[in-house]
Amino acid sequence: MSRRAIILILFITVGLAWPVTAQQRTFVAVATGGTAGVYFPLGGALAEVWSAKVPGVQATAQTSGASVANIQLIARGDVAVAFVQNDIAYYAFHGIEMFMDRVSNKPQPVSNLRGVAMLYPEIIQVVTLKGKGIASIADLKDRRVAVGAPGSGTEVNARQILRLFGLGYYNIREDFLNFAEAADQLKDGVIDAAFITAGIPTAAIQDVAASRDLQLLPIPRDAVDELRAQYPYYTSVVVAANTYKGQERVAETAAVMAMLVTRQEMDERLIYDLTKALWDNVDRLQQAHARGKDISLTTSRRGMPITMHAGALRYYRERGIK
Ligand code: GLU
Repeated sequence: MSRRAIILILFITVGLAWPVTAQQRTFVAVATGGTAGVYFPLGGALAEVWSAKVPGVQATAQTSGASVANIQLIARGDVAVAFVQNDIAYYAFHGIEMFMDRVSNKPQPVSNLRGVAMLYPEIIQVVTLKGKGIASIADLKDRRVAVGAPGSGTEVNARQILRLFGLGYYNIREDFLNFAEAADQLKDGVIDAAFITAGIPTAAIQDVAASRDLQLLPIPRDAVDELRAQYPYYTSVVVAANTYKGQERVAETAAVMAMLVTRQEMDERLIYDLTKALWDNVDRLQQAHARGKDISLTTSRRGMPITMHAGALRYYRERGIK
């Protein structure tokens, strides 16, 4: 074949193929949390599934400050999908709690926030080391406590739970640390305790347990009931003994739910395709973290605190999921 013919063929194939792929590529950014949490590995697996299974989609998971920060990323249109806690999604959608303007006292609802799927329970784990003379959350008075990364749902839970025990940032020494930082500083004795709201086992806590004797501080059932009277998304749970090395006793505590959210403006067909690919390949998420096993199509709408995205809703209706 002559050189001219080859160039001509190349020109035609490239010319035909190029505009098609260039036009069809859709970038889907997924906001997760810190690297030592559960959102991050699950988000990575989800992005892989979407890139592999939804034609034209190129998805990437990104780290973030977690729930509150993720809702702001969604509201601004900086990401397409995000992992968030259901309590925080509810506050955002209705413009209450931290989504209320402090100065004017007016709600600032994120009214374009839309639900895609309910995922798995996230456990509020208040971690300390044995031998510190701390047996209850009330003992955290005047102590140095990691309350979660700035913009995390963890930090919101820490504030609400501390208040229940008569504490606040005026009588503890709070540090806004992500899970990895909190684990390191707990091991090094820099902080006395850490709040961590995440699926269990949480890698950061396993890391502490590997070299220190840890204990989980209880949030007894009646305290959770009291909490729930004001904040309806808390539920009462028990962390089984030996979830972490050296944690011999069961611990009563509170939990919320992890969920996936998007924005109303996202294309209906795209969200339908992403929702379908998520559930068609849920085994991939199940392999990425122990909590993946809790993620199931049958419970995907249970306790959804906000309006669902039309694309996700169409998928669930087709599958008969209520
Ligand atoms: N639920 C946590 C938060 O919003 C993040 C959990 C995780 O990263 O797995 O603060």
